[in-house]
Amino acid sequence: MKRAEFVIIGAGPAGLRAAKSLLDAGAKVLIIDRSDLLGGQLTKQTHMFFGSEKQHASKRGIDILKLMVDAIIEHENLEIITNATVVGLYKDFVIGYVKADVYYKIQADSIILATGASEKAIPFENNDLPGVYAAGAVQTLMNVYGVKPGEKVLMVGSGNIGLIVAYQLMQAGVEVVKLIEAASHIGGYLVHASKIKRLGVDICTNMSVKRALGKDHVEAVEIWKLDAQWKGIEGTEETLEVDTICMAVGLAPLTELLQQLGAEVKYVRELGGNVPVINQQFKTSIDGVYACGDVAGIEEASSAMMAGEIAGIEAALSRGYDVENAANRLNELREDLSNLRNGPHGEKIRAGLAKLGVL
Ligand SMILES: Cc1cc2nc3c(=O)[nH]c(=O)nc-3n(C[C@H](O)[C@H](O)[C@H](O)COP(=O)(O)OP(=O)(O)OC[C@H]3O[C@@H](n4cnc5c(N)ncnc54)[C@H](O)[C@@H]3O)c2cc1C
Repeated sequence: MKRAEFVIIGAGPAGLRAAKSLLDAGAKVLIIDRSDLLGGQLTKQTHMFFGSEKQHASKRGIDILKLMVDAIIEHENLEIITNATVVGLYKDFVIGYVKADVYYKIQADSIILATGASEKAIPFENNDLPGVYAAGAVQTLMNVYGVKPGEKVLMVGSGNIGLIVAYQLMQAGVEVVKLIEAASHIGGYLVHASKIKRLGVDICTNMSVKRALGKDHVEAVEIWKLDAQWKGIEGTEETLEVDTICMAVGLAPLTELLQQLGAEVKYVRELGGNVPVINQQFKTSIDGVYACGDVAGIEEASSAMMAGEIAGIEAALSRGYDVENAANRLNELREDLSNLRNGPHGEKIRAGLAKLGVL
């Protein structure tokens, strides 16, 4: 069986930054990603990023991605396998992946899991009609493939993802008929909300989808007001003519591979669902296995980059590599990460990490 010292699963910002730390330390690295493109979520993010200035905030996601890829791509110690989905993590760190319908196995000494997250959906009648999308899928269609998902959209969810994707839909010439939010307040940054409000989009809180209407595809949607328990209130229904319903209702960490390996996971609502129990070094309950980025709790690309760098340095140190200035760099990264989580928008993350015992 083929062997590799460090295998990174997932080439988003967390995985790419972990790879850079390991390569800088002199290690050999194999990255496996199921996509044909490197960069994870960044491949479709054409907007200027929020987050940490030190982690390229104010640059476009796709430009940040280029900087990260350019920093490692020519490295002689780097091997990358794309279009390859890891389907199993087994005893003795055997990794099973499928590429072009062929199943391969490789054994690693150390694994860094950076698989990111999957999109959540909400249940409503007809939510399987063509025309019902998750926001990440809409972003991929528009920003990677140049395809509009429809002409008239209802956006569901007012977190930053819902607000940003609503704006991008309008930039693409799609009408955003309304944006609804189940909570009593807008979840994302007000700067994003104000931008779409100025363009005439009505943002309604305490509302959700009752059902989608249409025979072969979405032709309209019925929305209704919610009570304090988030139950729909009969008699408050409103019908909107739309051909697309876009759900931006949260992300769930992709921890299944870690669970298969037997790593301890815990359900922490504030971090998006089941997350691995990790320590300050981003090490899971299994020695030699690290988890960083959205897979360890839904945050943002800035934190994913910092977490990836910490995990990469710690993994290198644990196998005896000499990392230049390691203690100072780790302190600096931990301080930056904590500063990033310090604002009001970090409150949820802090609560989640406290439940995990990481803070
Ligand atoms: C619309 C939107 C806007 C955003 N805007 C911002 C912003 O402005 N600022 C900011 O800081 N953050 C932003 N974020 C959040 C940011 O994109 C994510 O937090 C970040 O990408 C997480 O990085 P990651 O490396 O953990 O995971 P991802 O970027 O999701 O990368 C995970 C990678 O793992 C691969 N993978 C998953 N499973 C497997 C498997 N089984 N086998 C092989 N490969 C696998 C995937 O293909 C992917 O490449 C935004 C997110 C969205 C959706």
